[in-house]
Amino acid sequence: VDLLKEMIVRKGKVLNSNVLKVDSFINHQMDPVLMYEMGKVFADHFRKQNITKVVTIESSGIAPGIMTALALKVPCVFARKKKPLTLNEELLTTTVYSFTKKEENEISISQKFIDEQDCVLIIDDFLAHGEAALGLAKLTEQAGATVAGIGIVIEKAFQGGRKKLVDAGYEVKSLARIKSLSNSTVEFVEELELEEAAI
Ligand code: 5GP
Repeated sequence: VDLLKEMIVRKGKVLNSNVLKVDSFINHQMDPVLMYEMGKVFADHFRKQNITKVVTIESSGIAPGIMTALALKVPCVFARKKKPLTLNEELLTTTVYSFTKKEENEISISQKFIDEQDCVLIIDDFLAHGEAALGLAKLTEQAGATVAGIGIVIEKAFQGGRKKLVDAGYEVKSLARIKSLSNSTVEFVEELELEEAAI
């Protein structure tokens, strides 16, 4: 996923030491070739686990989510941040705290789209403190389904989300791991550090 790292360096904007803006290829304007390539990487990584559904969250998770689902040929369901108008159906709901916005949001998925037969792959654009991914895992488990793993496009490794998810028992696969955003510079976790961390 060198293409992703290259685009982060070339087109990403470090807003401050905690937030990376990638609105020219992921979060606003979207690069479909990059999205599809990333979807294939997630699909190949988790394929053996017989995924039946991809679960993500609106709006920025939808593009990598649907591309992963396309590569796996399974449906993609996205959690909503606002209750749908058609409230006449049973919803799975949980709250997610956003450190960037400093607010709690209720997220929901219609119960009819996940059941106990499902083996779910969770996909999101960013991993920071792990709240969004944990919320999606909670919704999946409320439905009685299994979480096969969590695929993340950009992990900010200095914000501790991975540890939360791994401690909760989930496998995390991220395509780009950022070590620091200090001094307006993107610094990636080195391959060697990754190997050492795995020991
Ligand atoms: P977490 O729940 O892991 O703390 O944060 C993940 C969610 O917050 C993602 O769904 C993403 O939309 C948003 N987010 C967190 N950090 C960033 C960031 O640096 N840039 C952007 N664009 N979104 C972020």
